[in-house]
Amino acid sequence: MSELHKFLFEGLPVRGMLVRLTDAWREVLARREPGQEYPPELRDLIGEMSAAAVLMQANIKFNGALVLQVFGDGPVKLAVAESQPDLSFRATAKCVGAVEPGATLEAMVNLRGQGRCAITLDPKDKFPGQQPYQGVVPLHGDQREPLQKMSEVLEHYMLQSEQLDTKLVLAANGEVAAGLLIQRLPVEGEGNLEGRRGAGPSPAESAPLAGQAGLPAWGQRSSNEDDIGLSDAFNRISILAGTLTAEELLTLDADTVLRRLFWEETVTRFEPLTGTAAPRFACTCSRERVGQMLLGLGREEADSVLAERGEIEVGCDFCGRHYRFDAVDVGALFTPGSDHPGGHSPTMQ
Ligand SMILES: [Zn+2]
Repeated sequence: MSELHKFLFEGLPVRGMLVRLTDAWREVLARREPGQEYPPELRDLIGEMSAAAVLMQANIKFNGALVLQVFGDGPVKLAVAESQPDLSFRATAKCVGAVEPGATLEAMVNLRGQGRCAITLDPKDKFPGQQPYQGVVPLHGDQREPLQKMSEVLEHYMLQSEQLDTKLVLAANGEVAAGLLIQRLPVEGEGNLEGRRGAGPSPAESAPLAGQAGLPAWGQRSSNEDDIGLSDAFNRISILAGTLTAEELLTLDADTVLRRLFWEETVTRFEPLTGTAAPRFACTCSRERVGQMLLGLGREEADSVLAERGEIEVGCDFCGRHYRFDAVDVGALFTPGSDHPGGHSPTMQ
């Protein structure tokens, strides 16, 4: 079963999370159409991104989707993992060329140094005109050296965009996608994890509440910037976390990982999110959304596909569902005021 563990280091401005996606990750892979299976290198990248998206979503108080995207300039054009406040997630990738065995991150998505990683926070209840919050980083480090690990890209992002010292270890294979996140908190002691100790936050408590104007509360950056890289406690724990191998992360249970890494530290564990509270695969696609997309495409385009194929079929890249629209459906879709998915006018009632 998939699970997420939150913990903090007693008396230190450092907290951590460990996620293991097992059944949920295998579900993502099983949804792929036969013949469309990912090459192992790309599969592992998407797995790492899925683990990271769940960790980052669990790490903030934000009521909306967290979308982690890599826009590649190599054989992989797009890799995306998206997680919701209830820690459900989905992931997919678009591959247009051959991924060579053993291909690195650079070879897959940063061949010409133009690859980008974007993190978007899309609030559930947007006020009119509100744009999602998005941060973008390149796939190279400060010396323009290409980064070879997704974890390094995201550490870079957290530092650049959020001014947060972060250590990430990510790993995935065909069975498990897992990640360990260690983060320095701007506030010590009682400020850790919103001041809660001992009793873990329930899933309901840890999910809601967007920050002001729908922006997330990653940290208190104003008081935090000066301290980057200067916390001995964070540096020590981050080095310990960095000794975790992919093999260990993928094969050992959470208790063993935390005991092996941090046996000299006083770690306070929270109630793990398992069972129905665990991260799980779920897709947010719907017939209504596909209808909206067709409306955006325009009547002319829709009619030309109908003329050519007799129906419009739209497949979801995330979950493999297929949505079919015949001439009657399309006619209804483009008729204002008619009762069809995507065409409801909220002013009608
Ligand atoms: Zn779907």
